[in-house]
Amino acid sequence: MRIGQGIDFHRFIADQPMKLGGVTIESDVGLLGHSDADVLLHALSDAILGGCGLGDIGLHFPDNDPAYQGADSGLLLKEVLNLIQDSYFLVNVDLTIIGEKPKIHPYREEIRDHVATLLDIESSRVNVKATTSEGMGALGRAEGLCAMAVVLLEEKNGSL
Ligand code: MG
Repeated sequence: MRIGQGIDFHRFIADQPMKLGGVTIESDVGLLGHSDADVLLHALSDAILGGCGLGDIGLHFPDNDPAYQGADSGLLLKEVLNLIQDSYFLVNVDLTIIGEKPKIHPYREEIRDHVATLLDIESSRVNVKATTSEGMGALGRAEGLCAMAVVLLEEKNGSL
């Protein structure tokens, strides 16, 4: 078994769509980023790479590479999965979104199901949580969102 953890932050920006876990969220602000700025899928991708000892998404998908401008983070996650699929099963994924807005609760199940579909695992192996920073710091001032991910991986046949 191996454990990976990932964390990511993106600033809010007006007049941009917001995607979390590949799901479009109704919101008065979007997230600023080189790709589609899906902070949740970035944290998840980093957790998977970390658990497998493969660095981070900045290494694999540089944010100064025009190829990834506006990129669908779901496709980046698929590329990460391609790197590890011969060697690891995903046992479970636990995701946390931290910020003052938007309200995640109405989207929780949709995000869970969509992430599970992207990972090609059962929804019961995915959990989505949300919390605030109780008004403290940049997240508390609603300047952006943070996402954290923890994954458990099981080796198929020895290590990479
Ligand atoms: Mg990011």
